[in-house]
Amino acid sequence: QQPLLTVDGLSTYFYTDRGVAQAVCDVSYDIKPGETLGVVGESGCGKSVTSLSVMRLIPDPPGKIVAGKITFDGQDLLSLSERQMRKIRGNHISMIFQEPMTSLNPVFRVGDQIAEAIILHEKLSRKAALERAVDLLNQVGIPSPESRIHDYPHQMSGGMRQRVMIAMALACKPKLIIADEPTTALDVTIQAQILELMDKLREETGTAIQLITHDLGVIAETAQKVLVMYAGRVVEEADVKDLFTNPMHPYTRGLMRSIPGLGAHEEKARLETIPGVVPSLLRLPKGCRFQDRCRHAMERCKHEEPELKIADGKHPVRCWLYQE
Ligand code: SF4
Ligand code: MG
Repeated sequence: QQPLLTVDGLSTYFYTDRGVAQAVCDVSYDIKPGETLGVVGESGCGKSVTSLSVMRLIPDPPGKIVAGKITFDGQDLLSLSERQMRKIRGNHISMIFQEPMTSLNPVFRVGDQIAEAIILHEKLSRKAALERAVDLLNQVGIPSPESRIHDYPHQMSGGMRQRVMIAMALACKPKLIIADEPTTALDVTIQAQILELMDKLREETGTAIQLITHDLGVIAETAQKVLVMYAGRVVEEADVKDLFTNPMHPYTRGLMRSIPGLGAHEEKARLETIPGVVPSLLRLPKGCRFQDRCRHAMERCKHEEPELKIADGKHPVRCWLYQE
């Protein structure tokens, strides 16, 4: 099956007063129709900048896509005009952000906003579109949707607004949904419901999903493929099963140890966090970008940056531990 989205050698930099921040460096991946790709890493690892690059929403200046090719549904996105790109964003790629207040219009009732999104894509009467809006709100777990459609965004809780955003993203039946920490602000039960809902939609409609999260637990629940990012680089890429049965990069292993009931042994009942922080993208170290936090760092790691190379015959890893 042909990929729906192919990102090839993407680099996005920010030119600031204090220097050049290499937010995304030579990132490649693809997503097939009906597939969920999880992109995982701490904040500052380039997950969001990668997706904003795909959407062509990088503020320029100071940001710039300096290299790479992005192909969506046979179209070269980086060569499209802004007008053509807007059409793609409205019809074929939906984005769900962590903070829905910025994407919902505060002056319209939520039912009207969803109905509007539906009518843009299907010839439906207003009444039918509102009924569908009620259905969608029901699907995303909003209680008494018949009355909630009359609410303005500020009358809803953050969790409710996030569910409205997801309903809106589903309304236009996109080919690709890019969800950036879509459930991070929600409590665990709602989070599980929303992830399940997105997964059901993916299965039923063949929508592809790029799911960005700092939480490997979320990835385990929903993704088929995983991209682990660190300081602007892909450090490991694998099918979800291979990643969880055989995590290789020390950063991936560190993330695993911080998930309850997964890498951490229950009897220890204490989760490890990875000590240290992601290095400043303005002052990246020579050599491996993870060296300061890596318990396996060797002399070589300080001087030479490893490439992304297939390590176990299956999946690529960027680490000297697995290279001659
Ligand atoms: Fe650790 Fe070296 Fe591997 Fe980097 S290359 S992750 S510092 S062992
Ligand atoms: Mg982010």
